[in-house]
Amino acid sequence: MINVTKTYLPDKNKLDKYIEKIYESGWLTNNGSLVQELESKLSKFLGVDYLVLLSNGTLALQVMYHLFNIKKKVITTPFSFVATTSSLFWERIEPYFSDIDQSTFNLNPEGLKDISLDEAEAILAVHVFGNACDVESLDKISHSKGIKLFFDAAHAFDVKDKTGKNILNYGDASILSFHSTKIFHTIEGGALIVKNKELYDEAKLMINFGISGYDQVSKIGINAKMNEFQAAMGLAILEDYHILYEQRKEVYERYLMAFTTENNIQLQQLNPYFDYNYSYFPILLPDEDTLLNLKSNLLKENINPRRYFYPSLNTLPYVKYKECPNSQNIAKRILCLPFYPQLTWKTQKTIIKIVKESV
Ligand SMILES: *Cc1c(COP(=O)(O)O)cnc(C)c1O
Repeated sequence: MINVTKTYLPDKNKLDKYIEKIYESGWLTNNGSLVQELESKLSKFLGVDYLVLLSNGTLALQVMYHLFNIKKKVITTPFSFVATTSSLFWERIEPYFSDIDQSTFNLNPEGLKDISLDEAEAILAVHVFGNACDVESLDKISHSKGIKLFFDAAHAFDVKDKTGKNILNYGDASILSFHSTKIFHTIEGGALIVKNKELYDEAKLMINFGISGYDQVSKIGINAKMNEFQAAMGLAILEDYHILYEQRKEVYERYLMAFTTENNIQLQQLNPYFDYNYSYFPILLPDEDTLLNLKSNLLKENINPRRYFYPSLNTLPYVKYKECPNSQNIAKRILCLPFYPQLTWKTQKTIIKIVKESV
């Protein structure tokens, strides 16, 4: 079966080099030396100053809300992976949905101007499929309203603006996910990126039960620590990141070439002020029937694309429904094609052929 993504496993010897160290030290978790090493290597690689590693990206979101004392209401996008909304709900924070732009699939800043932001404590935007949000406009709006600006950057690993500044440096804080399905992974894992040492220290404390020293608990916390085996996987994959990036770029360009002239297929409009990390290949079809037909045609050939993102989060059974026409419309028509570094041209040609025949 050709799935939408394929988890990357590094060369076993490469990984063993790090696993060896774990066996030598006998230290498995609690801010071990591999977690520290990965934290410092990732900070350097991404060009950020304060990055905290966590056990997964969802907890990174939850710790972020606590760190900034967010309690009541957050304005967010309905077009994302369910964790963006469910993490808010889990913390008893009400998500207030604002619609997306239909060509970039990101939160539309224009829509935010119409809503009264009085009660909201923050905006939580998502760089959908690694496509940078209109960060400048969002920044202006959050500043003028005096509220925080957060980014769920789960898809935006290694995205820089044209001056070389990493996207994680925008807003008050961002999170990353290092789940196995993401372009850089630590099996399960995530990171929280903040702006200063105080917030970094506080986050480190929070993810370890608020324990500040022997027999000392200084604040309320949770267990959200990354362990040494997760860090070992991350360190091994980071060594290969560059090659993987080049391979993804090639796969991406082959799809692009095939679909740009196809009238019935719309592609995501990328932010021209940022580079792209080649993380997903979504296609937007004319209607849901075409999508379902295409999906079944692909499945017949053992090709399993995914409806990302579906359903639109404002229609989840546990949220207060608010109409978001663009998100609801796009969620019904979008399909992410299989996309990963080792996807062969042969398989890709089959996928392209079926897509073209089905639309
Ligand atoms: C993957 C993902 C998450 C959750 O990350 P986990 O590490 O799986 O907890 C959150 N938001 C978005 C947009 C994601 O794609």
